[in-house]
Amino acid sequence: MASLRGISSLYAGLCNIHHGEHIDIGPQYHCHTIREPFGVVGLITPWNSPLSQLCRGLGPALVTGNSVVCKPSEFTPGSSLKLAADAVEFCGLPPGILNIVLGSGPRVGTALVGHPLVRKVALTGSVRAGREVSHVAADRLIPLTLELGGKSPNIVFEDADLDAAAVGSINAIALNAGQVCFAGSRLLVQRSIYDTMLEKLRGIATSVVIGPQTDAKVGAIATRAQYERVQAAFALAEADGARLVCGGPDARQAAWGNGWYLPLTIYSHVTNEMAIAREEIFGPVLSVIPFDNEDQAISIANDSSYGLAAGVWTRDLSRAHRMARRLEAGSVLINEYSGTDVELPFGGYKNSGYGKEKGVEALSHYQQIKTVRIRLS
Ligand code: NAD
Repeated sequence: MASLRGISSLYAGLCNIHHGEHIDIGPQYHCHTIREPFGVVGLITPWNSPLSQLCRGLGPALVTGNSVVCKPSEFTPGSSLKLAADAVEFCGLPPGILNIVLGSGPRVGTALVGHPLVRKVALTGSVRAGREVSHVAADRLIPLTLELGGKSPNIVFEDADLDAAAVGSINAIALNAGQVCFAGSRLLVQRSIYDTMLEKLRGIATSVVIGPQTDAKVGAIATRAQYERVQAAFALAEADGARLVCGGPDARQAAWGNGWYLPLTIYSHVTNEMAIAREEIFGPVLSVIPFDNEDQAISIANDSSYGLAAGVWTRDLSRAHRMARRLEAGSVLINEYSGTDVELPFGGYKNSGYGKEKGVEALSHYQQIKTVRIRLS
């Protein structure tokens, strides 16, 4: 809830100061820009963190004067419906400004993107859905913001605080049981500390409590289909020759109840060519890849179709800055791998999407700019 409060206070504060500007081209003219809303914008959201995903788009869309039609994931519509009802009942939002439509992506999502009154769409979801929506939007020539998947590298150098890096690297894959777009699912570790780090990671991962989210660090996998997708990744890892450090398909689940729980799973000796290093698994599965030097770390990290986020652990400030510039990722986290703040623009490079959510940057995606040139004499 803290992040939702952050979103509303940031955009409520910005809405009165984010305006057009006067542009001086000489005494003969008065020129200025006006920022105008699109009118109706469509927000299509995924099942992981459905409420915060909706609010990320809702904040900038509403304060810039648009009305919104949201299609939440067919698996998690409840929180969006409740938010829309509460916004009218408790916050005084006029009825009709925030609307929720329910149904599947191909049917209702496609209809929303294709609707003649919808002039802008933001989709958070898979690369597949991003491509499909892009085709419909291209036909209509409407702008898109796409927040798609990731296979983010988290890089640990030998000069890092290894205990902090080990805890941070587990958190990077444990949050929401790995069902997070910016999960640090590829852990790159310098070869000189590879075995030491594996021991630290195994110690933390095997002591993490798994079960219902209230009393555990790693909660359930959201759907049966997702559960089966993660299970399939175990088989791929084995077939490719990755070595299981802990967790995996045979880890006992009895203690965790009857839900779709999976253990925190670590594979070592992963190469960047293996399927578990290339495809987004969206589960608690960490692939640990060795590297020898900075150039090799960059080359492995950037050798991905995705570019959402990247982490770097080092005590060398110059290296931290060098890495931040060279990594092909929309967000770079140094000596931490936790969340992102609402004040900071967030969005991907490459197949992780385009356009930014959060921060002041998000506002411009929900506005069109009109230029006015007045001849004075
Ligand atoms: P998904 O692509 O299956 O669905 C996302 C949303 O798009 C759903 O509402 C779905 O109904 C809709 N949709 C699907 N196909 C569509 C189509 N053809 N036309 C219109 N709408 C369509 O994704 P998911 O399984 O719900 O969510 C997981 C994915 O979302 C992961 O890839 C994850 O990385 C990504 N994600 C990205 C971010 C980010 O900020 N970059 C955040 C959260 C999740």
